[in-house]
Amino acid sequence: MFKQSAQHIATYYAQTYPASIPLHPTLQGRHDTEVLIIGAGFSGLHTALRLTQAGKRVTLLEASRVAWAASGRNGGQALLGWSCDMPPLEKALGPERSQRLWASMCWAAEEMRELPQRHGFDIDYRPGSLWTAVMPRRVKMLEQALHDAEHKWGYDALRLIGRDELPQWIDSPRYQAALYDANGAHLNPLKLAQGLASAIEAAGGCIFEQSQVLAYAPSGNGYVARTACGEVRCDVLVLACNAYIDRLDRKLSRRLLPVGSYQVATAPLDAEFAQSLLPRNSCVIDNQFVPDYFRLTPDHRLLFGGGCTYLGGIPRNVASATRPYLERVFPQLAGVAIDYAWGGHIDCSMQRTPDVGHEGQRYWLQGFSGHGVLPTLAAARAVSDAIMGDEDLLSLYQGIDNGRFPGGDLLAAPLEAAAKAWYRMRDRV
Ligand SMILES: Cc1cc2nc3c(=O)[nH]c(=O)nc-3n(C[C@H](O)[C@H](O)[C@H](O)COP(=O)(O)OP(=O)(O)OC[C@H]3O[C@@H](n4cnc5c(N)ncnc54)[C@H](O)[C@@H]3O)c2cc1C
Repeated sequence: MFKQSAQHIATYYAQTYPASIPLHPTLQGRHDTEVLIIGAGFSGLHTALRLTQAGKRVTLLEASRVAWAASGRNGGQALLGWSCDMPPLEKALGPERSQRLWASMCWAAEEMRELPQRHGFDIDYRPGSLWTAVMPRRVKMLEQALHDAEHKWGYDALRLIGRDELPQWIDSPRYQAALYDANGAHLNPLKLAQGLASAIEAAGGCIFEQSQVLAYAPSGNGYVARTACGEVRCDVLVLACNAYIDRLDRKLSRRLLPVGSYQVATAPLDAEFAQSLLPRNSCVIDNQFVPDYFRLTPDHRLLFGGGCTYLGGIPRNVASATRPYLERVFPQLAGVAIDYAWGGHIDCSMQRTPDVGHEGQRYWLQGFSGHGVLPTLAAARAVSDAIMGDEDLLSLYQGIDNGRFPGGDLLAAPLEAAAKAWYRMRDRV
């Protein structure tokens, strides 16, 4: 599964980035550091920033470019909660500990609002998200989530929007109801990642690109990680490799299945027409098993994702694979020009629960299962706090049991694809 490239792929974000995307050197020779982080997506970047700011000597090694993978390609929806929703977390942790985990998600949403200002960069942050129900029987899920938020998690930023009021939010015939979250948001993920990278360097951290870690091994009280042109000795190792961890750590990769996910950005629409599609400029995700998700960009495009593949591939023609989903939501966009179409990989765990933990001085963050903009920040806080000596938050994640996928390297993906076919069928009937 491991993939690597010297360039960002042609996403809307990379192609419209306002300047040339900064390059970082390749690791050469021997280095010594306190904390070595492998992977410069949101998980690695947030962890690195928190630790450099706390005075640690931090080195970040990235196989490709900063945010080359999911963190530079996603839908930019900063939604509160995890891919699995709260029930499996509540079951694993019980009411008091899941309440504390939820509180850390609220912290992440607030931190995301404040980070850019604090470090002087812009991420095109726009507040407001909608979780919609396509099927009448799934309106209950929204009602239950609203009830639980108020009664279990003490969270009062949600509002249920009924069918009559929906046209004020989305001009689509597809939805029965929606749950509005005033603390959800959307943003430009590549700008966020690049902003984090500059803040890390400004605080004294080192970032190396084109530096794939080929192997790591214990050494003295820490570890040594080896790349093609160099090696780094560290006291603490953090693995933040997402779906690409592969042979670097078999124990971790067996708990993940790389799933292909893809989306498109239309050509810029007339500003008023774009606003008529989503009058309040909230981002939207539905509550189908394989959800559609979409939002407007500041230059009036519709950015739309839907569909996924459990065998890890990406359709050859992402635009024509996605168009039927887009036109099903917005028939008024039939035939709209699509300027950009791209895909990426998400790191699905068995129950879509986050897989964050440590064994001694080796830490990991993974299993975000397609919903990672805020969860990576919450997890990075848990890991960085633990490295600084406070294990309180990390101990919550360690109560979640993430098992291996059955079937081994050859059969895990086909078995999972077959199992998921059942749930996808339930999206239709
Ligand atoms: C198409 C798509 C749409 C999405 N939309 C949303 C959304 O709207 N909202 C949301 O919340 N989430 C979304 N997600 C999920 C979200 O993007 C991810 O959960 C999140 O970015 C994961 O961050 P990460 O740092 O863990 O992983 P990544 O961003 O994948 O970063 C991992 C990095 O590790 C590097 N790496 C791997 N192995 C090595 C090695 N051996 N040596 C050095 N470097 C290595 C990789 O090159 C990569 O850059 C989406 C994902 C995709 C693919």
